[in-house]
Amino acid sequence: METEVQEKIWLSSPHMGSSEQMYVKLAFDSNWIAPLGPNVTGFEKDIEDYIGNDIHASCLSSGTGAIHLALELLGVGLGDEVICQSFTFAASANPITYLGAKPVFVDSEKETWNISPELLEKAIIDRINLGKKPKVIIAVHLYGMPYKVDDIINISRKYDIPVIEDSAEALGSVYNGVRCGSFGDIAILSFNGNKIITTSGGGALLSKDKQITNKAVFLATQARDNAPHYQHSHIGYNYRMSNVLAGIGRGQMEVLPERVDARKNNFLFYRENLSQISELSFLEDPKGSSSNRWLTCVLTSSFKTREEIRMALENENIESRPLWKPMHMQPVFKEAASYTNGVSEDLFNRGLCLPSGSNLNKEDLSRICKIIKSAFR
Ligand SMILES: *Cc1c(COP(=O)(O)O)cnc(C)c1O
Repeated sequence: METEVQEKIWLSSPHMGSSEQMYVKLAFDSNWIAPLGPNVTGFEKDIEDYIGNDIHASCLSSGTGAIHLALELLGVGLGDEVICQSFTFAASANPITYLGAKPVFVDSEKETWNISPELLEKAIIDRINLGKKPKVIIAVHLYGMPYKVDDIINISRKYDIPVIEDSAEALGSVYNGVRCGSFGDIAILSFNGNKIITTSGGGALLSKDKQITNKAVFLATQARDNAPHYQHSHIGYNYRMSNVLAGIGRGQMEVLPERVDARKNNFLFYRENLSQISELSFLEDPKGSSSNRWLTCVLTSSFKTREEIRMALENENIESRPLWKPMHMQPVFKEAASYTNGVSEDLFNRGLCLPSGSNLNKEDLSRICKIIKSAFR
């Protein structure tokens, strides 16, 4: 008997609007194929207007590159320690090592799944007692859920340690009426292919201090001094966003509010259709927070149940993925110091990211829910 193979449903696939090609064509028509150009400036202005709060933006070739430059701009160098949320994607932590600095990982709290303020303070005091005051704190709005911003800012001020706000997954999320990307001394965004909007690859560095975003552009374009010849008094990088890709970004900014609504509606659909199953639960927005629901995550009762659901979906050509494996459990970071409480390890064992693209329709979502329910029969 022939079985019909259904079209693959991806975890989070790109979703173009109607203007991206027009902006890319502008780049071609004006021969602005080289980096730098009007699409980059336009995309930066669109981001600044959307986030508000007097934020300045510099568009770069990736979110990872933005974290690298943010660390350098905050003075991180050889042998320094940087505190990083353990429950995150490796790109939050990798750039620490590019500078010869050392990550110190801190576990999560249960209300937002992000860096625990209690454990963060404990880690800072402990590192200071060891004579190694951390240089920077990297906090992450994971899956779009805002971290405990007020608590983290208070700790940052109390110990005078700046914060890099990893907002790669949180464009469109809101904390106490303010958009994510506004809270760190420096914040970063990502426009990688799986993010809420994409330029196929790209990122941005954000700050209220225009000197910082200007310096980021300077470092990202090979640190060229102001001279008619090429003169350098700093080591630079080739990290600027290309003008062609920024054209895609300008088109994507026009549909960002719709994309945020679509992702939130995915979450509401899953919660509505699956929360009567007592083995499943969803993370609610804490008071004052609104996650963009970049990915909808479901928490199951056990590793075994999580795997049963994942395999049931895979058998039907549907991609899902366990939650991020914490950095303190990663082989590559086994030497790093860490402050843990078991929260992120438990989330990793029991949690699953469900297909969450803004281009999913009601039939896709119904089909996914039906398969998940069937795993409980
Ligand atoms: C995607 C992502 C990054 C890195 O962004 P790229 O643009 O892919 O380099 C950093 N941090 C988090 C949490 C991410 O999800």
